[in-house]
Amino acid sequence: MTKSPYPMLSVEEALAVVLAQSQPLPPVTQPLTAARGAILASDITAPEPLPPFPASTKDGYAVVSADGPGAYPLVGEVTAGAPADFEVAPGTVAYIATGAPLPAGADAVVMIEETEKLETRSAPAQIHIKTQVQPGADVRPLGVDVQAGQTVLAAGERLDAAEIGLLATAGVVDVPIYPRPKVAVLSTGDELIEPGNPLGPGQIRDSNRAMLLAAIDAVGGEPLDLGISGDSQQALNARVQTGLAQADILLTSGGVSMGDLDLVKPLLEHAGTVHFGRVRMKPGKPVTFATADAQGCRRLVFGLPGNPVSSLVTFYLFAVPALRKLAAWRDPRLRQVQARLAQPLPLDAYRPEFHRATLHWDGEQSCFVAASTGSQASSRLLSMRTANALLALPQRAGSLPTGAAVDALLIGDL
Ligand code: AMP
Ligand code: MG
Repeated sequence: MTKSPYPMLSVEEALAVVLAQSQPLPPVTQPLTAARGAILASDITAPEPLPPFPASTKDGYAVVSADGPGAYPLVGEVTAGAPADFEVAPGTVAYIATGAPLPAGADAVVMIEETEKLETRSAPAQIHIKTQVQPGADVRPLGVDVQAGQTVLAAGERLDAAEIGLLATAGVVDVPIYPRPKVAVLSTGDELIEPGNPLGPGQIRDSNRAMLLAAIDAVGGEPLDLGISGDSQQALNARVQTGLAQADILLTSGGVSMGDLDLVKPLLEHAGTVHFGRVRMKPGKPVTFATADAQGCRRLVFGLPGNPVSSLVTFYLFAVPALRKLAAWRDPRLRQVQARLAQPLPLDAYRPEFHRATLHWDGEQSCFVAASTGSQASSRLLSMRTANALLALPQRAGSLPTGAAVDALLIGDL
């Protein structure tokens, strides 16, 4: 029997190797509209206070609070964006809209519900103020939400909708971020054809490339399609070199098993350094990780197994944390929760298994419940359909009963 020359690493050991080789990309500046999902590369401080002026929180009347209840002449009106060119002297009031600057002289707002416009024949109109308010009532003081010079976002934070809003508030339209890593995908195999083509004898459609390109986009990478390479050293080498030149991460699928035409490992040995070529896991044992230098940069290469499930599982377990580390995530690992099994599951005595499952929250039991996606053959992509978690099942003989607690690595929304 031919033996693999590669030592068998545990998943934890392999992931540690991957993360040690992965370093954040140099920061870039991107327009605000393209920054969502990225990690911020510098602290952001507010150049001005917010609100930049004392602003009304209600539609009503700007008053001198010491005047108290009574009927007062209306001296003008202030709406949002249109500051007053008059003062509110004691004994007068001005109409004010929500978000409008409090006019000089006034120190409070009485909301419209506590007032009445009196019927008068001649100008000015008279407003009946029915309630006594304290100074500052219904006024947002200058800087109450954000102070000038305050750090509103810190380097290392991930930009989602609220953070984008804070950048806009601070007037930052060119955002210092870590870029989306470019991830190139190459399928390998003489049997593969483009999905749009009819099948000839011995052929199958290339599912891995479309799948991985979609997965890269979903996890925040910039996908790059390198097509299909046949199983010849020359064809493969040309595509791998293109990938190394263009992308931060190169993913190949297929060609890492033990067959004569499994050319990826030797090719990567030649192009760079292979850090591991076997991992104790099911599926995905032949997953291979290498680094190579191109254009003065360190590139990461994942030789993913050809079977579609093995390909996607190893993508999540190793390539996603690498991609996140390049994108400067503080914790690049997959998120993990505990779940209870909805049915008994067999264990593998020789390898830890990453069982595909759909997790949902069970309100009655107050826990996540994991339902298996069925037959776990590594060629059966249907076993990843609707899966939002990989259950990390221990390497052990026997099985786990219904209700057993297992660690679940999240690969989709809960
Ligand atoms: P390999 O690792 O090249 O020996 O491939 C293992 C299995 O995965 C074989 O049955 C291949 O036909 C299949 N396979 C390889 N690449 C792909 C692909 N891109 N799409 C679908 N199946 C694939
Ligand atoms: Mg092959």
